[in-house]
Amino acid sequence: MSDSKHIETQAIHSGRINDEQFGSLATPLYQTSTFIFDNAQQGADRFAGEAEGYIYSRLGNPTTRQLEMRVAAMEGMDDAAATATGMGAVSGALLANLSCGDHLISSKAVYGCSFALMNHQLTRWGIEVSFVDMANPAEIEAAIKPNTKVIFLETPVNPNLAVYDLSVIGQIAQKHNIISVVDNTFLTPVLQQPKKYGIDIVVHSATKYLNGHGDVVAGIICGSNEMIMNIKMTVLKDIGATMSPHDAWLIMRGLKTLPIRMERHCSNAEKIAEFLESHENVSHVYYPGLKSHPGHKFIGTQMKAAGGVIAFEINSDLAGGGDFINRMQLFSIAVSLGDAESLIQHPASMTHSPYTQEERLAAGISDSLIRISVGLENVDDLIADLSQSLALIK
Ligand SMILES: *Cc1c(COP(=O)(O)O)cnc(C)c1O
Repeated sequence: MSDSKHIETQAIHSGRINDEQFGSLATPLYQTSTFIFDNAQQGADRFAGEAEGYIYSRLGNPTTRQLEMRVAAMEGMDDAAATATGMGAVSGALLANLSCGDHLISSKAVYGCSFALMNHQLTRWGIEVSFVDMANPAEIEAAIKPNTKVIFLETPVNPNLAVYDLSVIGQIAQKHNIISVVDNTFLTPVLQQPKKYGIDIVVHSATKYLNGHGDVVAGIICGSNEMIMNIKMTVLKDIGATMSPHDAWLIMRGLKTLPIRMERHCSNAEKIAEFLESHENVSHVYYPGLKSHPGHKFIGTQMKAAGGVIAFEINSDLAGGGDFINRMQLFSIAVSLGDAESLIQHPASMTHSPYTQEERLAAGISDSLIRISVGLENVDDLIADLSQSLALIK
């Protein structure tokens, strides 16, 4: 689906199928479970793959197809497969490429349920997993075994915003013939396109920025024609975490404004990160947009900007962290991110609770870490809210 338009244009037009019957500007919503065949032969031909056309919405749907083509174009990849949730995308990409006896390498800190999938589910099915520090190429190389099939990572990492060098990891994977999978949820293709660094598969929780309006849970997997066909015809067809056409329709509505939303998320977050860094009751801020962050050197190269998620530690204990969150008025206490509304959460007790405390600390997620998703409100109002609650820390 690679087309040469700019991403702002792709977000609105790529993959569009013209409605020849009525000329609808908005994407028609094919809210249907199944498709009627003209006759028995046509049905048989479609099942045999000898005729074009839809069969049943778990196998494909015209509304969902437009979303797939649009996101694939934005990622600069051949094709995409839409999934019911972000975890449907992570599990689809992994299950289609791993069998019993294979080995998987992951970064230590990942989204909590991605960690649970790898550490608690895949291991039940005889897949070995090693968690490594992806900032250290020697550690990745040392973890590679003859049965290593997949390398999985996020950058920036949820929740502590560590940034990894995609070109280094892409090269290691290619050299050893290992499939590389990057979860690009935090930056979206507007800010980072892993394909440019030789990454094979990109997954997203479309629940977050791609949709951007807090009203859908969904995911998407992007890759080569061959990989996407394999994922669709195995895991998605037979395990079944495919996307509802209504969700695809809502995400396409959200996508039209993704590039301009990302601009505002980033500019708000940059100002908030600077405010937090200068505050006496904040002991550390994790945001790659800050010069003090080790990932800052990747801004302007691997990533256009740092995105809208910030993590920080306050000068208080666990209970004080709870009190701090409870005093927030404009920020809602909620997991998720990438919405118009600003959100605040506590990873150790919420999104990253599938980790034991020991695993969490080894992954660089402290008990006092607080994560915010900076929304699209006026930044002065957001800073005022943080300021009133920070001032009351004892
Ligand atoms: C939320 C999230 C997921 C999981 O997505 P769901 O849509 O909630 O299933 C995966 N990866 C990252 C980085 C996320 O933030």
